[in-house]
Amino acid sequence: MDHCPICDVAVRPENLLRHLNDIHPRHPDTPKLVERLKAEPGRIAARAPSRPLRVSRWQVVIVLIVILLAAVTYYLVTNGSRSTPLACISGSGRAYHWHTQLTIVSAGNPVTIPADIGISFTCMQILHTHDTSGLIHIEPDTPEQARVYTVGDFFNVWGKPFGSPTRMTVNGTAVAPGPTVGLYNTPEAIVIEYASFTP
Ligand SMILES: [Zn+2]
Ligand SMILES: [Zn+2]
Repeated sequence: MDHCPICDVAVRPENLLRHLNDIHPRHPDTPKLVERLKAEPGRIAARAPSRPLRVSRWQVVIVLIVILLAAVTYYLVTNGSRSTPLACISGSGRAYHWHTQLTIVSAGNPVTIPADIGISFTCMQILHTHDTSGLIHIEPDTPEQARVYTVGDFFNVWGKPFGSPTRMTVNGTAVAPGPTVGLYNTPEAIVIEYASFTP
């Protein structure tokens, strides 16, 4: 610590110049002291050269627009162009429009199947759900798409492994558990039982 030659207060060496200028600007000794101190190394606090940053409103707007465009582009690229397990469709079921009721049971408890499986901002796939009722909508548009889809296709769209069910029924009749069971129209009802299934 240094001491101010005028008021004797303790001052850090690098702050003494500023102290003199701020506290004793009119003292008769100040100009001489300042002159002398300026010649001494370490008296002036190392300060990064700072230029006042001037940002206009226009620049802010342009940066925000660029960020927004980048976000929208990223969203469209990742959701729109990424290939989906099944084709994107019109939603009017031009080839056919069927519904199969799917029930999933995990350790004896019904599992809620999410709404909007197979539906994104840019694509509705041939197999999808609209609500949490477990109703699978099957809506191919073209003759090429108009095949019979399977419960395994639905799990693909959902992004879930089919796994190893312990039991499976179709319209109340037990069948060999497997993903190749077809999805037909109402009143088609498939029940899949698992020891443990996490939706
Ligand atoms: Zn439907
Ligand atoms: Zn639909």
